[in-house]
Amino acid sequence: APTVGVLALQGDVREHLAALDATGARAVPVRRASELDAVDALVLPGGESTTIDKLLRAFELDGPVRERLAAGMPAYGSCAGMILLADRIVGGIDGQRTLGGLDVTVRRNAFGRQVDSFETDLRIDGVPDSERTPVHAVFIRAPWVDEVGPAATALARVESGPAAGRIVAVRQGSLLATSFHPEVTGDTRVHRLFVEIVRDAR
Ligand code: GLN
Repeated sequence: APTVGVLALQGDVREHLAALDATGARAVPVRRASELDAVDALVLPGGESTTIDKLLRAFELDGPVRERLAAGMPAYGSCAGMILLADRIVGGIDGQRTLGGLDVTVRRNAFGRQVDSFETDLRIDGVPDSERTPVHAVFIRAPWVDEVGPAATALARVESGPAAGRIVAVRQGSLLATSFHPEVTGDTRVHRLFVEIVRDAR
């Protein structure tokens, strides 16, 4: 089984570790460069992207993570993690940087204050059976993807309501990102998709 790290600086680390565990992967927290060296892939959890950005620098992990990403390490970013993986960001706090890798523009806090959090059902390309049994998606002060560059592919869009049509899941090779939090629902299909991507990349 592949060893999948969860960046454990801030955010909902435990939930991702549990979801990865359920897929049969070996799930480990990553707080330092030596731990990063030991993983096949990395999950960037939800949380607060500006805080995670600062902690990445404080723990001197930003360089090593960038290097691994550049070398092709598979990564999955959920919510704040999606922001960290995006090449371009709209609505970031001044000076906020991303790790990059995904050829997309994310809009931070895109759903606006009125709808801080909402839930909806999604069909997601590559998620088995999501046509018949949609993925229940939980959004918490989530970003959406404003623009998908030629290297990336949209996997899911909001299907109804004021945000209908907005892109909320993307993939580019072995990089995966979702605006929502599959780690809080008990449905592990998105994590299974990621672990499959990790297996294929090995
Ligand atoms: N709004 C947060 C940010 O900008 C993301 C929220 C989340 O990860 N649930 O990082």
